[in-house]
Amino acid sequence: MEHVKVNISDFASAIGYCQFTLVNKYHLGLKPAETMRMVAGRRLHQALEEEDQLVEREEVTAEQLLDPNFDLDLVRESMKVAVVRENGNVFEYVGRTDHVLRRAGRLIIVDDKTVTGNRVPSQLYLDRLVQLAAYCEGFVHTYSAAIAFNAIGFTVVHRSPANEILKQFNGVYDDTLRAFLQQNFQLFEGVYNKAVTPSHHNNPNKCRACRYLPVCSFKAPGT
Ligand code: SF4
Repeated sequence: MEHVKVNISDFASAIGYCQFTLVNKYHLGLKPAETMRMVAGRRLHQALEEEDQLVEREEVTAEQLLDPNFDLDLVRESMKVAVVRENGNVFEYVGRTDHVLRRAGRLIIVDDKTVTGNRVPSQLYLDRLVQLAAYCEGFVHTYSAAIAFNAIGFTVVHRSPANEILKQFNGVYDDTLRAFLQQNFQLFEGVYNKAVTPSHHNNPNKCRACRYLPVCSFKAPGT
């Protein structure tokens, strides 16, 4: 049995963007090119982290962590999450959340995304939803014994490269989303294990925007 470490962002891309990203990365060992958007995202995260380091925080006690009504603002990029599942192989889904808050008993996982070229999304895309659901599940698995909360949800913040907030989406991690996530874990694992044939979106626009484009042999016709 293989131990497969999967970055949650790769899982989300394979489910929400294109299943052939999984084939390219895990079956063929291909490396994607770094896009302008990824570079802008890295710079933005660095700036947000530097800003966060200027925030004055008081150390919290174990009792305060276990009191859901005690508001929290955890240090940016400090919370690593993981979900481990067995399905033919052992799959360990790992990621690091951008920012975690607890407000009035509700745990909120905040994810910052960079918008380039004024392409502000009008809706929460599937890959983002899957990514944030996996972070919530990972947080529950990793921290729920030490950090108490009555409910868990997420906020996706779309920012310009200059750090201006352009759009925000909020969601609740409930039983429906949890069931949806489990189905998608199974789909990912099925494709990884070659028990499920990957399906193609057949959308040349997606391929043109894909970081695997230069090396991918599954491009949609007309790309
Ligand atoms: S180039 Fe197209 S088919 Fe290949 S991984 Fe990207 S989106 Fe999928």
